Amino acid sequence: MRADLERIRQAALADLERCEDEAALDQTRLRYLGRKGELTAVLRGMREVAAAERPAMGELANAVKTAVEERLGALRRRLADARQAKSLAEERLDVTLPGIRSAHGHLHPLTQVLDQITSIFAEMGFGVETGPEVEDDYHNFEALNIPRDHPARDMHDTFFVAEDRVLRTHTSPVQIRVMESRQPPLRVIAPGVVYRHDDDVTHSPNFLQVEGFFVDEAVTFGDLKGVLSEFVHAFFGPRIPLRFRPSFFPFTEPSAEVDIGCVMCAASGVLPDGSPCRVCKRSGWLEILGSGMIDPNVFRFVGYDPEKFSGFAFGLGVERLAMLKHGIGDIRLFYENDLRFLRQF
Ligand SMILES: [Zn+2]
Repeated sequence: MRADLERIRQAALADLERCEDEAALDQTRLRYLGRKGELTAVLRGMREVAAAERPAMGELANAVKTAVEERLGALRRRLADARQAKSLAEERLDVTLPGIRSAHGHLHPLTQVLDQITSIFAEMGFGVETGPEVEDDYHNFEALNIPRDHPARDMHDTFFVAEDRVLRTHTSPVQIRVMESRQPPLRVIAPGVVYRHDDDVTHSPNFLQVEGFFVDEAVTFGDLKGVLSEFVHAFFGPRIPLRFRPSFFPFTEPSAEVDIGCVMCAASGVLPDGSPCRVCKRSGWLEILGSGMIDPNVFRFVGYDPEKFSGFAFGLGVERLAMLKHGIGDIRLFYENDLRFLRQF
């Protein structure tokens, strides 16, 4: 019996060492220690052992059983450790790796420039007003001193919706609508989309315009120059040269266009490489907005007394300002929504 026990101990321990997983360990345990196991079978034969030898045999049998169980426990722990190490290795998270950025959009360059224009005038006390994009002939032309037979109507290349209805060709009708409903003093800018029958690299059939006007008692051309100079310097920087050049608009008298020193050739008319600047046509100047003292006839249309009130008005193109500020040569880039272009702003 002693020999049987020793053989079982060795065979069981050897079998355990060959086990590669939990299932094999369980099978081996059953084979030796289970109810029908080899060690159990030997122990059943204990009663045939001589009484004197029984304690020693019992002790040996227990020692064999303990040895096998301990080895089994150790191998189980080793398998569990290996399983944990494996899962740790597989599920490892490197917190130093760069994250996946979520894409954030931003405002369109034209919206950014429009916001900038609005906030510069807001600081000078101008409020924002809007008006309809489909306008009647009276507000778009007539009340702005552009009668039916006036040649200035041709300059506007108007889209007609109906006999007396147009897509507004400028934001100036907002000036009329505000003056019809309110009394001076007024300091207002009116940003919005306008429409003209025009389409090339510097003209789009619809574009953004900002109309502005200032009406009160004793407003002078000096106020016009002060406000517009302040705006130009705030927008293009304090060192940009500017000049006021006499011009003509039906709804202002006198009228002036505002030019800034060409941003492409530093107002010299010649590019750094010596070639002539085509943007300003070698003049060194670029027109950026139209302005003037509001014509007394316009005041009469809205019921203001031109002897009592005076004021100035101006209009500027948002795309044009954005193109000059950012050095963009083709207006159509603003509307194509090419992300390579938009991401630069
Ligand atoms: Zn130039």
